[in-house]
Amino acid sequence: MNTDSAISCIFCKIVEGQIPSTPVYQDALAYAFADLNPAAPVHVLIVPREHVGSLADTKEEDRALLGHLLWAAAEIARKQGLDDGYRIVVNTGQDGGQTVDHLHLHLLGGRPLTWPPG
Ligand code: AMP
Ligand code: ZN
Repeated sequence: MNTDSAISCIFCKIVEGQIPSTPVYQDALAYAFADLNPAAPVHVLIVPREHVGSLADTKEEDRALLGHLLWAAAEIARKQGLDDGYRIVVNTGQDGGQTVDHLHLHLLGGRPLTWPPG
């Protein structure tokens, strides 16, 4: 999508290869790469190739895409050997702590994770 927000979006640039990333998984709809500041031994970001600002911006037509992203996260977790469990986080909006306005799932694992988050 060639909206102004997509043109200046760092995750769109990562998807397009204009900003380097460490790829973990990719398919026609999704791209996954290592988080630059990992919060756990495994910290992968799964993003849609098309620009979607946040979970709050999704529409009915995005239902299949959302399911696909969650499936991709589970597939990556299996491939990374996270057999003891893991966490999927989707920070959304200001109160949710979202800092990059391109929908992304965090896959965190490789150590016991505490709950609740801050
Ligand atoms: P959030 O706070 O949920 O919006 O998460 C944004 C995440 O993107 C943070 O965990 C950052 O460490 C990560 N991040 C920001 N820039 C990059 C980048 N260029 N490559 C990889 N991860 C990044
Ligand atoms: Zn984007």
